[in-house]
Amino acid sequence: MEKIIEGLVFRPKEAVTTFFDDRNRVIVYGITGYSYIQKEFVKASGPIAYDIIKNAVKKSAKLFISEIFSKKEKSVWEFIRILNKMGIGKVEVVELNDNGEGYLKLENSFIGEYYRGQSDRAVCDYVIGLLEGGLEVIFERPFLCKEIYCVGKGDSFCEFETRISKGKVEKIDLKGIKEYKGEKTNKWDLLEFDSEEGTVWEGPNRAAIFNSSCIAMIQQEMEKITGPAAYTIIKNGNKVATNIFVKQLIPTFLGINKLITSFMKKKLVEELLKVPNYQGTIHLVIEEADYKKPYFKFRGYNSFLAENYKNKTNRPVCDFISGMIEGAAEIIYPGKHIICVENKCIATGDNYCEFEVKSSF
Ligand SMILES: [Zn+2]
Ligand SMILES: [Zn+2]
Repeated sequence: MEKIIEGLVFRPKEAVTTFFDDRNRVIVYGITGYSYIQKEFVKASGPIAYDIIKNAVKKSAKLFISEIFSKKEKSVWEFIRILNKMGIGKVEVVELNDNGEGYLKLENSFIGEYYRGQSDRAVCDYVIGLLEGGLEVIFERPFLCKEIYCVGKGDSFCEFETRISKGKVEKIDLKGIKEYKGEKTNKWDLLEFDSEEGTVWEGPNRAAIFNSSCIAMIQQEMEKITGPAAYTIIKNGNKVATNIFVKQLIPTFLGINKLITSFMKKKLVEELLKVPNYQGTIHLVIEEADYKKPYFKFRGYNSFLAENYKNKTNRPVCDFISGMIEGAAEIIYPGKHIICVENKCIATGDNYCEFEVKSSF
């Protein structure tokens, strides 16, 4: 296992993490949370959810890969090398001609492994989006990729067929993309990378590197179909994932796994607040805290979701973060029913996001 992932840079003070370029903001996100969101979207809207995911990832991958290749020579081999650092699994070329057509194999797919053969269809549309987006940028032709084997439906690995398709290639405008500055580091104690397996680990949990705009795009597209349920699904996905994650992390942070005293609650909250700074999701600052009740008010800066809403919205959009806070608070305050509400949001025009955390009994 390696402690440093090539290309991944953390700015913990701003909670901005970038990948292979200071203009590519990403988040480090557990696969449990992502897979939960995908499964629930499919339940809520049917197989169209797979297309929405694929198209959102493709759009976001086109920006991301164009940004990387605006500074170096386009190469499919470099693209595959980058994919292999993302924690999505190990990508290998089975065969590939000079036009980018052929077969790519994926072992340990971050989504497929979560389904473990329980699905009756291939489930790695996220990876199809990455491949179609990346290949389109490199070969300047539209691509149609198909997943012909998938661990999600019981195959022993995933395999994708890549074919040039008809149609035009849209030009990509990189002008609007923000560059992130500030003090940076390439190490986060919790994060490890297994280059043999193509997997990324946040402590005991498998994670992957997601382009920050793709989760926001999936949320926006799903909202069009399911309405506000899209926010609830994203919130619950991250709540479930954070719940599991925090349970596993308590011994790391406190050196024990027993009952949490009031003093320990404070320490635990302080330790946990550092995590999203590295995950690259949001920088949370305590505005008010009653550790006993519990009651908290957090100010949030640089939310990756709010940043990806170009037009102002009427409602706060960072339900992903509210879910994370609820999931963690329920472990620190066992037996309490915790509710986190986002009162202010950068996406609605405020200067920061604000989260209020209460116990309902
Ligand atoms: Zn698959
Ligand atoms: Zn917000």
